[in-house]
Amino acid sequence: MPRPLIAIPGRLSPDAANVRGEAFASGQRYSRALVRAGAQPVVLPPIVDGVDVMVEALQRFDGLILHGGGDVDPRRYGEEPTAEALYGIIPDHDDVEFALLAAARALGMPVLAICRGMQVLNVACGGTLVQDIGDESHWHEMHPVELDRSSRVAVAIGTSRPDACHSVHHQSVKVIGDGLRVTGRADDGMIEAVELDAEAWVVGVQWHPEDTAAHDVEQQRLFDAFVAVAGSDRGR
Ligand code: MN
Repeated sequence: MPRPLIAIPGRLSPDAANVRGEAFASGQRYSRALVRAGAQPVVLPPIVDGVDVMVEALQRFDGLILHGGGDVDPRRYGEEPTAEALYGIIPDHDDVEFALLAAARALGMPVLAICRGMQVLNVACGGTLVQDIGDESHWHEMHPVELDRSSRVAVAIGTSRPDACHSVHHQSVKVIGDGLRVTGRADDGMIEAVELDAEAWVVGVQWHPEDTAAHDVEQQRLFDAFVAVAGSDRGR
C-alpha cells in the first residue's frame, strides 16, 4: 500500500538560506510527525496565481494539513485590524489556505488544522477570532486540555485530558463557525479544539502537537489517527 499523501500548504519565506532567491518553506516538525505516522507529506508552494492548479491537484491527495503561522487578516471575518499585537498577516497565505480548505471539504477529505490552521478553519466556517488575548497565558506555555470524550481528537489521542499541550497563540476563537463543535477547552475556558460534525474527519487544535510528538505518544497519536483516516479514505 502506498503511503497516504498529505498536502501541506507552505509559506513564503524570503530569507531562507541555501536557495537562490526567495524561498518557500514549511516547519519540519509537521512533516516529521507525518512521516512517523506513515504518511508522505508534500509541501505545496503557496503561489496565489496558481491556486486553481493547486485546488485541482488536491484530488490526488489523501489529507490536508493547515499548520501554524501568522495571523489571519481580520477583514476575513469582517473586522478592521485593531490589535497592536497582530503579526504575520500575509494575504497570499490566507488566499491559498482558504481555497485549499474549501476544496478539501468539497472532496470530503480529512483535514488536520493546527493553531493558525484551526483559526483558518473557524473563519472559513463563518466564525470570528479574538484579535489578541491580551496576556501571555497561552504564549509558549504547556497546559492541559479538557476534551469531549466522544470527540475525534479525544479518540485519536486516547485520553480526554492530554496534560501537556504546547500552546503558542495570542489569538483565540471568538464566535464559533457554522457546523463546528467545540470539543476541547483549557482550564481557563479557552477554546482549544474544534471539529466539523457532519463531514469527513476535520479536526482543529489550537495547540501544537507537532512540537512534542517526537517524545509524547499522546500528541503523536493525533497524527497517527489523521493519517490512518486519510489512508482508509483513499478511493472515496
Ligand atoms: Mn492554549
